[in-house]
Amino acid sequence: RFAVQAIDLVKDYGHGENLVHALRHVDIGFERGRFSAIMGPSGSGKSTLMHTLAGLDSVTSGRVFLGGDEITGLKDNELTVLRRSKIGFIFQSFNLLPMFTAEQNILMPLTLAGGKPDREWYSRLVETLGIADRLKHRPSELSGGQQQRVAIARALITRPQVVFADEPTGNLDSASSAEVLSFLKQSVKELGQTIVMVTHDAVAASYSDRAIVFADGRIVADVDHPEAEQMS
Ligand code: ADP
Ligand code: ADP
Repeated sequence: RFAVQAIDLVKDYGHGENLVHALRHVDIGFERGRFSAIMGPSGSGKSTLMHTLAGLDSVTSGRVFLGGDEITGLKDNELTVLRRSKIGFIFQSFNLLPMFTAEQNILMPLTLAGGKPDREWYSRLVETLGIADRLKHRPSELSGGQQQRVAIARALITRPQVVFADEPTGNLDSASSAEVLSFLKQSVKELGQTIVMVTHDAVAASYSDRAIVFADGRIVADVDHPEAEQMS
């Protein structure tokens, strides 16, 4: 039923005196066609949740399902294949490849999978994101906001079923943020995607259908259709 689901998810880091309980028995499911925001103070476990749901990080115990398939227990190479076909991940730190142009970075997931770009979708992505005239530039020649938008285009180029976004508007001014968030919101409805976004920004959260609030490795609130005023 869920596009992404975690059952009794536990993630500890370190041991002994340095033991950190990053996720304390988290149960959560994300439905198709919904845009969810994860909020909460720094260190509350938001990034850890995203990384474990995306199979980028191992779990201490519990189970993670992606599109009906259990990913906990899969081997690294199996996970890589699954991630490439089903997930788009927008990292806080962009993770763009410095030697490649914006265009090559955006098309990289297709290049790696041996697929061909859908030109129409590609054009729409780069135009909506406002980077159509920056495609031949390398990341170092782009502003932070432009790099972020290249990273967003790269995450969406394969039209993934599930998109994880870690502070996707963290480096954008409010006008660009609004454009990017509207685009994500529209993309969810159009492609029936599932988007899970970590954000500190109440305005960004107001674009989502659901807001989940974390504190100390646990979900402390889970509300549908949040209003910007209520989230601040
Ligand atoms: P965020 O802004 O999402 O809170 P952090 O600054 O907490 O990001 O973490 C950035 C990166 O550093 C993440 O990949 C996280 O896994 C890692 N990290 C966070 N805390 C620690 C720690 N105490 N020791 C080692 N790595 C950490
Ligand atoms: P958030 O994203 O909400 O800021 P994180 O998921 O990054 O929170 O971190 C949750 C807790 O786990 C924090 O106490 C953080 O320091 C710790 N942590 C995160 N990554 C690591 C890591 N790689 N090694 C050790 N501790 C970590």
